[in-house]
Amino acid sequence: MLLYIEKFGSEDESALITPLDTSTERTEVFYGEENTMDVVLHFTSRAKYKIDACIDNTRPLLAIEIKELRKSFIDAKTRGVRLRYVTEVTKDNINYCKELIKIIDELRHIDGIRGNFYISETEYIAPATLHDKGRPASQIIYSNVKEIIEHQKYVFDSFWNRAIPAEHRIREIEEGIIPNIIEIIQDSARAQEIYLNIVNDAAEEILLIFPTTNAFLRQDKIGALQLTEQAAKERNVKVRILMPLLDSLTEHTVRNLRQEKQQQQPQKDNLKSNIEIRYIEQISEAKATILIVDKKISLVMEIRDDAKTTFYEAIGLSTYSNSQAGVLSYVSIFENLWIQTELYQQVRETNKRLEGANEQLRVHGKMQREFIDIAAHELRTPIQPILSLTEVISSRIKDTDEAELLKVVSRNAKRLQQLTEDVLDVTRIESNSLLLNKEQFDLNEVITNGINDVIANAGTFSVKKKENIKLFYEAINKTVIVEADKARISQVISNLLNNAVKFTSEEEGGGTISVTLEEHKNDYNNKREVIVKIKDTGIGIASEIMPRLFTKFTTKSEKGGTGLGLFISKSIVEVHGGRLWAENNADGKGATFYFSLPVSSR
Ligand code: ADP
Repeated sequence: MLLYIEKFGSEDESALITPLDTSTERTEVFYGEENTMDVVLHFTSRAKYKIDACIDNTRPLLAIEIKELRKSFIDAKTRGVRLRYVTEVTKDNINYCKELIKIIDELRHIDGIRGNFYISETEYIAPATLHDKGRPASQIIYSNVKEIIEHQKYVFDSFWNRAIPAEHRIREIEEGIIPNIIEIIQDSARAQEIYLNIVNDAAEEILLIFPTTNAFLRQDKIGALQLTEQAAKERNVKVRILMPLLDSLTEHTVRNLRQEKQQQQPQKDNLKSNIEIRYIEQISEAKATILIVDKKISLVMEIRDDAKTTFYEAIGLSTYSNSQAGVLSYVSIFENLWIQTELYQQVRETNKRLEGANEQLRVHGKMQREFIDIAAHELRTPIQPILSLTEVISSRIKDTDEAELLKVVSRNAKRLQQLTEDVLDVTRIESNSLLLNKEQFDLNEVITNGINDVIANAGTFSVKKKENIKLFYEAINKTVIVEADKARISQVISNLLNNAVKFTSEEEGGGTISVTLEEHKNDYNNKREVIVKIKDTGIGIASEIMPRLFTKFTTKSEKGGTGLGLFISKSIVEVHGGRLWAENNADGKGATFYFSLPVSSR
């Protein structure tokens, strides 16, 4: 506020200017104790309705000890003037304040107030120099300028409304109660100052929650971590810190802070036993650093912008409190999180172990796949020349008996080849290394090819079968695109078709095998799928093997079998996200095998 001050009198105390001419608006400075006193006394005597005073903690003494002053207040009150004072009640002035309460109408307390001014309805005075104990000020500003009175009234009202009844504060002091303070700090520089002060004052315990790693780094920059470290080292303060998982930068700072617990001589270093750091997951909503000191003080610093690198720019509002209830709530939040980190730690350790195990499995899996590839090569290699050679020889020889013998060799070599492939497939399935080579193709086409292959290979079936078994295929009149491993799906189809032929008797006028392809919506997941149905009129699935039909080595075949085909087929279909199942036909003739595949959404 800009005051225009006319200087009256001089610094020579003898120049007495009062009584004042109040007829015109003026602002003046008076010098000398006597003049000052005079101004005050005239001011009090002229007040008609009210005197509002804002005084520092040294003034209650004056109001009581300077007799004229005290009398003038009593006189004013007797005239019906309402006296309201706001000051800071302290241990030192408590008795004067109690006296003052008796004289004036209402006394209120505000922490650390420095103002010194009095206003009546028409006048304003402000003692301007520090007074000696028990003596009035030697300089005083006087004004009856309306605007100034208004300004000062506003200033007074602001203090008055924030102040608490002096009696409260007196009781607190007398009973040794530490007053509850909850302060909202808007200025981050002030928050920083308070932050460092309370860490510095910590006597027993510091609890800190950093919501982000950036918060941690920013607070390291302003020296908060160094002070914390000092507290732990020099004053034996116990420090516990909760913070998000580390990136390499924070890790470095943390390592400096706790100097790694694992160091060789831990007993020599107080710090290690005094600072404990645990990690919490970074929670996106949690945006405040929480500091709790000695379970008595809390400072909650809200982050305005976590991207900022300085504390000054990043921090928004902060709340400082020494209120028991508030601080203890924060303590309990801290303790809860602290316990949670134990669980979190366990989860992390378990995860680490799992990762280790996974890595081992991965290595193991890789070794297994390599073994399978080598075994496949080693097993296939000797069969291939047998097959080619028998073919070459059989084309040259004329002798029918010899030719028959060669056919046996060739059939057995083919069976051996099939067995080799099946055993390798089982190994792949069981080691989860059945890799799919997916592509989009028309399932209609693959089924048709499968049927043609069965017919072409019918040479391995008896002549009768060839003649007596009829194969029908009811395809849907459109392309059915699936995304799958074409070779593997062909393998499933040919396995099911071959079984159908194998278990269908060529006697009794032959049998039929019908293949149907249907597309529909899966009731369970509402997705479109295609179902391939292979129905035969053969002997049907023997009831004793039904429960184990799709398990390895389940076989019931007069012509011998390995019992691997269905196990492999079902596994292939399932890794594609489909199902494979079977039932005996309701009319008691033959069996039907089904498998489904998801339809490509293209
Ligand atoms: P394999 O044919 O080598 O025995 P599979 O796993 O292909 O092995 O078949 C297992 C068993 O299931 C067969 O031995 C047979 O008893 C039965 N089976 C498979 N397909 C049919 C079918 N279409 N009709 C009757 N039984 C069948």
